[in-house]
Amino acid sequence: MNPTLEIFSQGEEIVTGQTVDTNAAWLSQEAIHCGFTVTRHTAVGDKLTDLINLLLDISERADCCICTGGLGPTSDDLTAEAVAQAFNRPLKFDAIAFEQIKAFFVRRNRVMPEVNRKQAMLPETATRIDNAWGTAPGFSLKHQRCWFVFLPGVPSEMKPLFLDYVKPDLLTRFTLQLPQLVTLKTIGLGESAIQELIKDIQIPFDVQLGFRAGTEDVQTKLLFPFDYPSAALTALVSEFSQSLGDYVFAIDGLGEVTDDLAFEVDKLMTVKNHTLALVETVSHGLLAAKCVGYDWLVKASYEQGVIQSAQAMGSAELLDTAKGLARDVQEKTGVTSVLVQLYSGGKEALRDKDQSINVLSVLLVGNRFYETNHTIVGSLNRKQNQAALLTLDLLRRYLQGKAI
Ligand code: ATP
Ligand code: MG
Repeated sequence: MNPTLEIFSQGEEIVTGQTVDTNAAWLSQEAIHCGFTVTRHTAVGDKLTDLINLLLDISERADCCICTGGLGPTSDDLTAEAVAQAFNRPLKFDAIAFEQIKAFFVRRNRVMPEVNRKQAMLPETATRIDNAWGTAPGFSLKHQRCWFVFLPGVPSEMKPLFLDYVKPDLLTRFTLQLPQLVTLKTIGLGESAIQELIKDIQIPFDVQLGFRAGTEDVQTKLLFPFDYPSAALTALVSEFSQSLGDYVFAIDGLGEVTDDLAFEVDKLMTVKNHTLALVETVSHGLLAAKCVGYDWLVKASYEQGVIQSAQAMGSAELLDTAKGLARDVQEKTGVTSVLVQLYSGGKEALRDKDQSINVLSVLLVGNRFYETNHTIVGSLNRKQNQAALLTLDLLRRYLQGKAI
C-alpha cells in the first residue's frame, strides 16, 4: 500500500475563489508521480481554530501532508502559529532564517520591514527549508504518524522548493514505488471525442486514466502501478492507441523520447532527408514558429493576398489555388515538400469566437498532393494555433504513413 498524502492550501483568497488553487493540482501530480496515494485536498481560510483542527485531524489519518500558503509576514498568515498551537511547539526565533530574510532585502536594495521578522519564527524542533526564491522559509516536522511540509503559497517559490528540497527528501523518507506513466499525444481530437472512442475499453481498477488538454496537444494518460506486468501494460496501451488511431502522433513512457508535434516531424524529416517550404494564412507565422531551429525548414511565407481572394472561393477553387501555390513554391525553392494553408469563412469569422472557419491544408511531395480540411471555432488565438497544428499534422501523417 502506498503512503497516503494530503494537500492543504491556506488562505482566504483560495476559499473565496479569488485565487485558483493551482498549487494543490500541481503538487498532486508531483506526489502521485513520486508514488504517493493522494487522498484529500482541503482549503482553509484565515481562521486559527479551523487550521488547528485540520492539522490535528490530518496528523491522525495521513502519512504525509503538504501545506502551502500562510507563511507571509502579515497578520492573516497564520500557518506557523496554528502549527505551534496544534502540536504544542511554541514559535522560536531562528537566527539563520532571520539572516536569510535580511539578505533577501539587501540583495534587492531594500530595507527589511519590521513585520518580516515574524517569518523567522518557526515551531520548536521543526526543520527549516531555506527559501532562495522569496522571504518566507518553509519548514517540516512530524506529528503523530504524519510528516508535515509547510511551503510558501507563491507558486514561483513553492515549485522550486518542492523540486529541489522536498521531493528528494520525501523519496528518502518514504518507501515509494514509482508508478509507470504512459501518455498518448493526439492532435485534432477533443477530450469528449477521445472519451467516445475509448468508451468500450475495460480499464483495470488499478490503472488511472486522465486527460490533459493543452495548447499543443491533447494527452490521454495511463498511470500504472510500479509492478504492473509489462505485457498487460503494452496490451492496454495498444488498445488505446488503436482506438485513437491516426490521431496519435507520439506515445510517451514506452522508452522513446517524445516532445511536441514539430519534434516528431523533425525526427522523420531528418531521417528521410526532406526539406520544407510553407505558406501560411490563418496562423500567420505561428506554424513557422513551431518549426524554428529545424534545418529542414527552408522557406516560410505568409500570404495576405490569397486570404483576400480565398474568401470568395468555393472549395474546389480553393483547392486549385492551394495546389497552384504549392507548385509555384516547389519550383522556386526546389524543396522536397511544400505545405500550403488557406482558409475560407471570411475575415470577420476569424475574430468572432462564435463563428467557424474552414482551413484547407495541402501538402505537395514530388508530384503527389495530400490535403485535409478542418472546421475551427473559438477565439482568434485558438483558431491560429489549431490551424498551425493541423497543417503541420498533415505533414506528420504523411511522414508516419498514417491515413490522410
Ligand atoms: P508570502 O511570504 O509570499 O506571503 P505565503 O506563504 O504567505 O507567502 P500567501 O500569502 O498565502 O503565501 O499567498 C501569496 C500569494 O501566492 C497569493 O496571493 C497567491 O497569488 C499565491 N498563492 C497562494 N496560495 C496559492 C495556491 N494554493 N495556488 C495558487 N496560488 C497561490
Ligand atoms: Mg502571505
